[in-house]
Amino acid sequence: MDPPITIPHREDLRRLLTLWYKQHRRMLPWRMTKDPYAIWVSEVMLQQTQVKTVIPYYLSFLDRFPDVESLARSNIQDVLKAWEGLGYYGRAHNLHSAAQIIINEHSSRLPAIWKQICRLPGIGDYIAAAILSIAFNQAYPVVDGNVKRVLSRLLQIEIPVNRSSSHKHFYRVMQELLDSRHPGQFNQAMMELGALVCKPGQPLCPQCPLLLNCQSYQNGTVTDYPKRERSRPTPQYRIVIGVVRKDGRILITRRKAKGLLGGMWEFPGGKIKAGETPEAACIREIKEEVNLTVKIDSFLTHVKHAYTHFKIHAEVFICNYSTGAIRLRGPVDYRWIALDEIDQYPLPKANHKFIPFLIKELQKRMKLPALRGGASR
Ligand code: SF4
Repeated sequence: MDPPITIPHREDLRRLLTLWYKQHRRMLPWRMTKDPYAIWVSEVMLQQTQVKTVIPYYLSFLDRFPDVESLARSNIQDVLKAWEGLGYYGRAHNLHSAAQIIINEHSSRLPAIWKQICRLPGIGDYIAAAILSIAFNQAYPVVDGNVKRVLSRLLQIEIPVNRSSSHKHFYRVMQELLDSRHPGQFNQAMMELGALVCKPGQPLCPQCPLLLNCQSYQNGTVTDYPKRERSRPTPQYRIVIGVVRKDGRILITRRKAKGLLGGMWEFPGGKIKAGETPEAACIREIKEEVNLTVKIDSFLTHVKHAYTHFKIHAEVFICNYSTGAIRLRGPVDYRWIALDEIDQYPLPKANHKFIPFLIKELQKRMKLPALRGGASR
């Protein structure tokens, strides 16, 4: 059995933190509501994404899908379009699937019971605790990176925050510290302190309400915390992307629903093999993915993009269709679209980085504002 955790000055810490939060919290749109659906959407969006990025997405998403019914009844492509640019598209798929389960099995209400809410797609311990504490005032602690950092410095916790087994320890500490009368407020206060004062780089200790009870501050060891294990460097891949042109249209393909960028549309392409030129890789990838033979027309641009676990450096080519009929291997759908239709499809951020160059280049060649007309297969 794990030894009990004792937190010195626990009542003082709760009181001071709560007081500070009431005076200094940001008036974020999801803090103006008690609607469990809106809180759920905000918590899903805030996973892996910064507050300032989330705000416009949150507002327009709720405008487009104001309740669980409207989300459940919508087409997944519309949900992905609303999510476009926010990344981690599995979150949008899960939100949509969970909304359908909620209307079918929970009378269109987000369940307020731990076991039930955790069975919904995309709702793990963190989001469940956030929803249940904030929307339903249930005493579940939340533990994210901000909370771990604050606890680590406050109590001089020696366990590395990035070791996966450390989560259990930080959870138990938070359980002990949580104000069970106002759990939602307390959870948000801890996260807010981490975001505004006990920041990742240089914490703003003179502004901190917990300064007198902070062990690392009192011992002059703030910069030693949080402890971290050295992580492996992020792999980088060189890839190619091909914009295939045929009869004034360009080819886009849709990824399968599961996995990285699930259900999104994109241009064909893939990794450059050892010893291969980018041009040869582009021709090969297009042949392998969609069975078309193409000729390289010209180089368009370079694109760099970082995903969670790897980075890409892409070379983008404009290609001309030569021969072949489309046969998909990997993608699940395709369209030949006119340039001005590109906005109708949800595309990953890496594609958006070169689309302005593509539009400029193709419009210059066509000497037209844009080609118009319906997408074709
Ligand atoms: Fe963080 Fe400094 Fe406050 Fe301690 S005193 S919790 S290190 S901001």
